[in-house]
Amino acid sequence: MDRPETILAPGPTPVPPEVYLAQASPIVYHRGPGYGNLLREVTEDLKRLFSTTNDVLLFTSSGTGGLESAVANLFSPGDRVVVPSAGYFGERFVKLARAYRLDVRVIDYEWGRAVDAADVERALAEAPTKGVLVQHSETSTGVVHDVEAVARVARAAGALVVVDAVSSLGAVPFDCDGWGIDVAISGSQKALSATPGLAFVAVSAAAWAAAETAQSPRFYFDWKLAKASYDLPNPENPFTPAISLVQGLHAALRLYLQDGVEGALRRHRRLSRAVKEGVRALGLDLFGDHPERGWAVTAVRAPEGIDGNELVARCRRDHGVILAPGQGPLKARSSGSATSGTTRSSTSWPGLRRSR
Ligand SMILES: *Cc1c(COP(=O)(O)O)cnc(C)c1O
Repeated sequence: MDRPETILAPGPTPVPPEVYLAQASPIVYHRGPGYGNLLREVTEDLKRLFSTTNDVLLFTSSGTGGLESAVANLFSPGDRVVVPSAGYFGERFVKLARAYRLDVRVIDYEWGRAVDAADVERALAEAPTKGVLVQHSETSTGVVHDVEAVARVARAAGALVVVDAVSSLGAVPFDCDGWGIDVAISGSQKALSATPGLAFVAVSAAAWAAAETAQSPRFYFDWKLAKASYDLPNPENPFTPAISLVQGLHAALRLYLQDGVEGALRRHRRLSRAVKEGVRALGLDLFGDHPERGWAVTAVRAPEGIDGNELVARCRRDHGVILAPGQGPLKARSSGSATSGTTRSSTSWPGLRRSR
C-alpha cells in the first residue's frame, strides 16, 4: 500500500492515534491488579454504553463469537427460537442457531425492510418458544430495527430476547435495561473506533437462569467461567485475553465518553444527517426503511445503470476511500458508509462528484 486509505466501511472504522498508542504500550500481566483494574474500568464503561446494570462479559473474538456465546449458553438442542431475518446478519443468526441444532422459525423479510414486532408476536403464538434473536442495526441494509417493540412481545410470550448490537452500540440509542433486553452483544471495531478482536455481552438475570439449564455444548465461550474469573478480587478472563486490544479499547472508551454517551450519540446523529443530506444533494437515493433511525450506517442505492461494485472500487482506486459494497441480493445495487464514534469528520464521499 503506497498511500494511506480512509476506511468509511461499516467496520472496522478509523482508529484514533490514542488507541493505537495504547495498544503499543507494554502489556500488563493478565492475572493481577494491573489487568484487574483495566478490565473493571472497561466493563464499567461498557455498562454505561449498554445502559445496563447487568453483567457484561468480555471475550477475545470478533462480534460473531459474542453471538455464538449467546446461542450456546441460553439454549438446548431442539429449543424453538424465532429469528426475523432482513439481511446478511439476520441470516448469520439463522445459521448459528441451526449449527446448534435449535428449531429455528425464520421470519423472512425482503432486504431493506424493518422487522415488524407484530410478525414476531404471531410467530411466537404458533408454539412455545425459548428466544427471539434479532439485529438492532442490520448493517447489510443500514436498517435499525425496533428492538424495544420486539422485546415487548417476546417478554409477553415468555421468550428471551437476544439483540445483536454489534454495529449499533455507541452509534444509535440503546437502552438495555429500559427495553428489557436479556442479552445484548457488541464488538470493538464499529462505533467505538477500537481495533477488531473483542466482543462484549450483557447478560440479564433471566438469561443467567436460562444458562443454568441450557444443554448446548460450550467451553471457550462459557459465560459461567467468564463470570467466575471476573468475580475474583482482581477481575480476569479465564483464558489469556488479547491484552493489547483491551488496552486499546480502554483508550477508545475514554475518548468516546469524553462528551458523555448523549454527546456522542448527538454527534452520530449530526454526522449521519450530514451524510444523508450530501447523498441527496448528489441526486442519489437512500436505501431501506426508516433511514432517519440509522445513525450507524448510511445505505445508498446505486443509480440506475451504475454498478455499485464498480462505484465502490473506483472510490478506492481513485480516492483512497473505502466504502462497503452491497451484499447478498443487494450486490452491485447499494453501498454503505459508517459514522464512527470518535472520528469527527469521517463521513464524506469525495469521490462521487468527480467520477460522474
Ligand atoms: C459486524 C457485525 C457482526 C460481527 O461481525 P464480526 O466480523 O464477527 O465482528 C455481527 N452483526 C452485525 C450486525 C455486524 O454489523
